[in-house]
Amino acid sequence: MLTFSTRRVLVIGLGLIGGSFARALRARGLVDEVVGYDRNRGECELGLSLGVIDRIADDLETAVGSADLIVLAVPVKVMEQVLSEIKPWLRPQTLITDVGSTKGNLVDAARRLFDPIPPGFVPGHPIAGTEKSGVGASDEELFVRRKLILTPLPESDPAATLAIARLWQGVGSEVLQMEVRRHDEVLAATSHLPHLLAFSLVDTLAHEAENTDIFRYAAGGFRDFTRIAASDPSMWHDICFANREQLLAQIDRFTDGVAKLRDAVARGDSQSLLGIFTRAKSAREHFSRILARSAYSPDLHNHPVTFRVRPGSSIKGQADLPGDRSISHRAVMLAALAEGVTDIEGFLEGEDSLATLQAFRDLGVVIEGPHQGLVRVYGVGLHGLQPPVGPLYLGSSGTSMRLLCGVLAAQPFATELYGDEELSQVSMSAVVEPLRQMGAQIETAAGGCPPLKIKPVESFAGTGKVLRVASAQVKSALLLAGLYTETQTCIEQVKPSRDHTERMLGRFGCEVRESAGRLQLAPGGKLTAGQLRVPGDLSAAAFFIVAATLSRGAELLLEHVGINPTRNGLLTILQQMGADIELLNVRDDCAEPVADIRVRDAALKGIEIPAEWQSLALDECPALMIAAACAEGETRLHTQVEGGLAANRRLSLMCEALKQLGVDLQLEASCLRIRGGRLHGGRVSSGGDPRVAMALAVAGHLAGEELDIEQCASVALFCPEFVDQARRIGIALYKEEG
Ligand code: NAP
Repeated sequence: MLTFSTRRVLVIGLGLIGGSFARALRARGLVDEVVGYDRNRGECELGLSLGVIDRIADDLETAVGSADLIVLAVPVKVMEQVLSEIKPWLRPQTLITDVGSTKGNLVDAARRLFDPIPPGFVPGHPIAGTEKSGVGASDEELFVRRKLILTPLPESDPAATLAIARLWQGVGSEVLQMEVRRHDEVLAATSHLPHLLAFSLVDTLAHEAENTDIFRYAAGGFRDFTRIAASDPSMWHDICFANREQLLAQIDRFTDGVAKLRDAVARGDSQSLLGIFTRAKSAREHFSRILARSAYSPDLHNHPVTFRVRPGSSIKGQADLPGDRSISHRAVMLAALAEGVTDIEGFLEGEDSLATLQAFRDLGVVIEGPHQGLVRVYGVGLHGLQPPVGPLYLGSSGTSMRLLCGVLAAQPFATELYGDEELSQVSMSAVVEPLRQMGAQIETAAGGCPPLKIKPVESFAGTGKVLRVASAQVKSALLLAGLYTETQTCIEQVKPSRDHTERMLGRFGCEVRESAGRLQLAPGGKLTAGQLRVPGDLSAAAFFIVAATLSRGAELLLEHVGINPTRNGLLTILQQMGADIELLNVRDDCAEPVADIRVRDAALKGIEIPAEWQSLALDECPALMIAAACAEGETRLHTQVEGGLAANRRLSLMCEALKQLGVDLQLEASCLRIRGGRLHGGRVSSGGDPRVAMALAVAGHLAGEELDIEQCASVALFCPEFVDQARRIGIALYKEEG
């Protein structure tokens, strides 16, 4: 068995990359000696004077014979020649690697020269560089947090690969391994083609003398796009020939793409043009997000945000509410699966609904927007989804994952769904199990958690049996899967739950019938596109309704708010407590009941809230607790949640904060008692829960003193307009960042 060492390193080709590697090794004390060799003696002398190397090789024979590791950092076209020059003096345990931008040509050369390939030969490529060349431009930090691709061969000794990988890790690189062919294919697409295009564009524009004037007016985009045309022409010339085959394939693909664009422009085909542009834009954004595994909106998660609220006077005027979250998800889903174009107004641009929207883009649906709540979806029909290029990333949106699972379980192609760290710990068994009964083939990670691997199905039989469900999301997933089954889908609800999916399916032309407490969806339906206006979110309205009710002299109008009977428990409860809430202009919009809500101030009194009511106001609990904390007497909120009330993080956070504001409350297993009184100011934390943060903002408005609420960054992702709307109606709420 051979043992490999990296103590004495010989760098052949002491230019930008070879010099940077030598410098990084020396600066970090990773090796005993770095020797430099270059056909250009001047580069070696400069390297020595700059401290890049320990010494200059006197002759190649001695330098190669005494080196533990040889790094070939010469241009790709001379790699073969240098390999043949060093060949006679190599020892069996000599490690040989390179930094060349192409790998296939080097490996072909090695196969021509060696029989067998030495076990210490492990080709490599740092994905780092600049437009400069020469040792004078070398930089010891060049490889920090950059990728380094190793392409070990079947003949490479794993110990040799490990030794070389460790050295690159030592200079700060993230080491990856790839097959030679795959490396050249990926680099042709992501590096070689873009360089070729940049050279071509600048050359085309600069070709004629009168055109040089154009550059004077060049905008930033042109400068960004053509920056790489300043790279070393002879290096790129060599790379183009060294990776000829893969590069030609990429040029052909690109030429086809440009031809499609040309055609769309020539024919005035704006749907195709917009389709290509919106797909590209979102692919670009999605790609960056996947790399960062981050949120769909700008990175606000880790940004410390504190809300400062001054005790306020009255609430007056009108607030615009964001679109309903649950309905936004379903609107995009059904519009994507419908035949024709659907325009959606009032789409909530929150993290979760954006995750659903992106997933359908990845499944080949052209979607314009969202822009100020407007989204245009070019539906592909029930059977028009395309296999996505990779796994579908859903951030932290459990709703997206559960609902999509229903649609994807019935597709003739495989998909994989995954999410961020938080979602990866949530069991999906409640939805996966009944879908399996319907014929789906879904694999989960341990405990039923994501990632979910959904296998293709030829036909989706469905189950002749009645499926019993306890949650709205599971029910929705089964109904969506039911669009594809050969038999009728029949669902029995253990308890009433939100019925947005049933209503939305009806709106798109697929009626869900209800008889004797069972939902029935017939097979063979199809969805037809149309116009949709998503109702304002009653959950977001809840905070403003409570604020207005408890502010003396208040009068607030909220237009076009969803008052779905499976969701409107908050209104019933507040009215029982004495609130002055009027529903005006009650109507149906997109199969959902909506109304304009007028709220005037009123004195509230504590009441007994039975569990049935409370289950209709689950999301609004934090707002309700503020109402109870300001009402006269005691409010008792009964519930039957699994594990008891104290296990609910949101309720615990609310109780903690309210106690700090001087509220007298007790949290028991199935009852929360709150005794109304005066709220104090101070400093509390929302624990990062957006609904808690928004409820506490209302508490701040009603408190006797100023209130600071920490950890409010998530509000911007959850309800982007909250702060502006709160201020618009008179809540003195200020956001402090950083
Ligand atoms: P560079 O700055 O021009 O350095 C290459 C050096 O090798 C020059 O000093 C050159 O001398 C010397 N050389 C040429 N033929 C030689 C030979 N037969 N024997 C000994 N020395 C020889 O180029 P670089 O940017 O460092 O590129 C080196 C390698 O790194 C290339 O294979 C390139 O594909 C790869 N790479 C470059 C980048 C980048 O962004 N620059 C990024 C990743 C990988 P002369 O000046 O006399 O020709």
